[in-house]
Amino acid sequence: MSGNGPVPILGDGGGDRSARPQVRAKGEGGVDLSRVSYKELVAEMIRRLGEDPDREGLRRTPERVERAMQFLTQGYGLEPEEVVGDALFEERHHNMVMVKDIEMYSLCEHHLLPFFGKVHVAYIPDGHIMGLSKVARLVEVFARRLQVQERLTEEIAQSVWEVVHPQGVGVVVEAFHLCMMMRGVEKQNSTTITSAMRGSFLEDARTREEFLHLAVSAHRSPS
Ligand SMILES: [Zn+2]
Repeated sequence: MSGNGPVPILGDGGGDRSARPQVRAKGEGGVDLSRVSYKELVAEMIRRLGEDPDREGLRRTPERVERAMQFLTQGYGLEPEEVVGDALFEERHHNMVMVKDIEMYSLCEHHLLPFFGKVHVAYIPDGHIMGLSKVARLVEVFARRLQVQERLTEEIAQSVWEVVHPQGVGVVVEAFHLCMMMRGVEKQNSTTITSAMRGSFLEDARTREEFLHLAVSAHRSPS
């Protein structure tokens, strides 16, 4: 306990929990943890790491962690259609639209540690294009969740496919994984690259090559 009066049962860190999946807590040995506040859980974690959650520098840490984690997982409360809204415009040209170097920060679901990097999204319109800033918003919908990079890549591609109904879509994600880097599992500067395609990007080798060429040159340009 922090000694600052009673700890509320439910955290007051803000954020809309109603949209999040509600999972019943079941601790080890059937202990019900569902009524323990988020702050208390974080304080207990700090204790188990051999630290004192009541010392000066850590006193407000549980509260900060709760707020940070809610922010970093706010994608659970967002839907792709909602984020794009009415930012779909009629467009008759069928040239590739590409948004490069979208910044991405996510949390690996195996270690709850960050992975981060760049996302490149391209599609060939079939009557509609999406507002450019909305592509970045779509990335956030899925990046701000507990993720693995492969699924994140697929989910971004699928959401463009379903929202814009293009002839084809391609997504490349290049990311650094702190869970590997900090534990020395991987060389410090190696990135993991994943891609996902739909429609003409799968069927037409030239489209796919054009996209990958643009994505790779984006990777090499200074940012
Ligand atoms: Zn990990």
